[in-house]
Amino acid sequence: MANGEEEKIMAGIDFIRAQGVSVEPVSKEITLNEEECIHCGACTAVCRSRALSLDPVSAELRFDRDQCIVCELCVRACPMRVIKVSF
Ligand code: SF4
Ligand code: SF4
Repeated sequence: MANGEEEKIMAGIDFIRAQGVSVEPVSKEITLNEEECIHCGACTAVCRSRALSLDPVSAELRFDRDQCIVCELCVRACPMRVIKVSF
């Protein structure tokens, strides 16, 4: 990351903290048991960051880990309980 970008991010975090919001490093991640997924799409409906989506061609679930903000909404939305949070 360029130095300028890092400074802007840190300034942004300082601003958010100044509003009284706690900011912690992300230490959790979402894990998905793809073998047990039935590609129903229920998790995609609650995923605001679009990390979870259904492939328009194959209709299979895609998980873009880089887009995930670990909001955990998909964990409860999955009827098969194949999405978990790991620390
Ligand atoms: S944790 Fe949130 S952002 Fe990540 S995949 Fe689930 S719903 Fe999407
Ligand atoms: S809700 Fe669960 S079973 Fe349905 S597509 Fe998402 S991960 Fe797969």
